[in-house]
Amino acid sequence: MNWAELQARAKRNEPLSKHTTARIGGPADLLIEARSREELVAIVQRADELGLPCIVIGGGANILVSDRGVRGLVVLNRSREVTFDVRHTTARVEADSGVLLTALARDCIERGLAGMEWAINVPGTVGGAVVGNAGAYGADVASNLYLVRVLRRDGVIEYWTPRQLQLGYRTSALKRYAPTDRAVVLSASFDLKLEYRANIERRANEFIARRKATQPPGATIGSMFKNPPGDYAGRLIEACGLKGRRIGGAMISDKHANFFVNVTGDARASDVKALIDLAHQAVLDRFGIDLELEVELIGDWPAERERLRDGA
Ligand SMILES: Cc1cc2nc3c(=O)[nH]c(=O)nc-3n(C[C@H](O)[C@H](O)[C@H](O)COP(=O)(O)OP(=O)(O)OC[C@H]3O[C@@H](n4cnc5c(N)ncnc54)[C@H](O)[C@@H]3O)c2cc1C
Repeated sequence: MNWAELQARAKRNEPLSKHTTARIGGPADLLIEARSREELVAIVQRADELGLPCIVIGGGANILVSDRGVRGLVVLNRSREVTFDVRHTTARVEADSGVLLTALARDCIERGLAGMEWAINVPGTVGGAVVGNAGAYGADVASNLYLVRVLRRDGVIEYWTPRQLQLGYRTSALKRYAPTDRAVVLSASFDLKLEYRANIERRANEFIARRKATQPPGATIGSMFKNPPGDYAGRLIEACGLKGRRIGGAMISDKHANFFVNVTGDARASDVKALIDLAHQAVLDRFGIDLELEVELIGDWPAERERLRDGA
């Protein structure tokens, strides 16, 4: 598919609230859906050649998009191919970066392959998971990642090892770059082990039950802050009496204080940002702990720019 055909598919002023799990976010100037790895490469390469600011999003499960939206191009990654290479007792799976983590986990379980079951109910895509080294229940992307195929922003495609990716707690070498400059994850390969399917299923079901018991349903962005060493962001925010605190259409969940929920369905990003600032300041004042955001602020955040410019 050539650029003209891809461009013809572009949506103008597309509300990103339609593409984020919190159902929040202003418009992207342009949005194009990439339906394969090849399309993803073609779109990003062309945008970079044209000097058009370009970011890739997956499930929108870890971003807070400003009410003013995103200038330039947003690529919605829907590349969805998965290939399995099964040997005697081991296997390797390569998944396109637009594959949903939940679908990948389920696919692995159905084949009796252990290693991805932690992702059974983690929203978002493989690409977003690599960028943030997503994880749950004691495992994460780093646990069994073999190799990642990336598109550098100078147009070169290459393979990165986990070592090159410098995966850490909800971070990676990729996450340190602004989304417009960041290499694009094209696919990721994971090493898996053959195991009795019933055993893997049992673990996955436990994970599902645990999440249901502890996390709120509805439109959220997942954990807002990273847990500080030796503690939990949710416990600290709760201890500040902020569970259930509401600003506009957004609320700090009364079930888990590190989850901020779009309770009315039409919450604004500025409502969530006001709650972030409130929780951050309260924890700083009470415990002297400077919580770090896990969620990424995306798009046009003028107040943030002014704050940084003023050195506050
Ligand atoms: C209810 C809920 C529960 C959650 N539970 C967990 C949990 O248990 N553990 C956990 O780790 N996370 C959790 N999260 C957060 C989220 O699921 C993960 O961070 C997930 O990996 C995000 O993937 P995504 O595709 O949605 O990324 P997005 O939100 O779309 O993007 C996140 C960042 O990655 C970039 N990006 C996305 N795709 C690519 C790509 N292909 N190449 C380069 N950059 C890319 C984006 O530009 C953006 O900067 C939860 C979220 C929700 C809503």
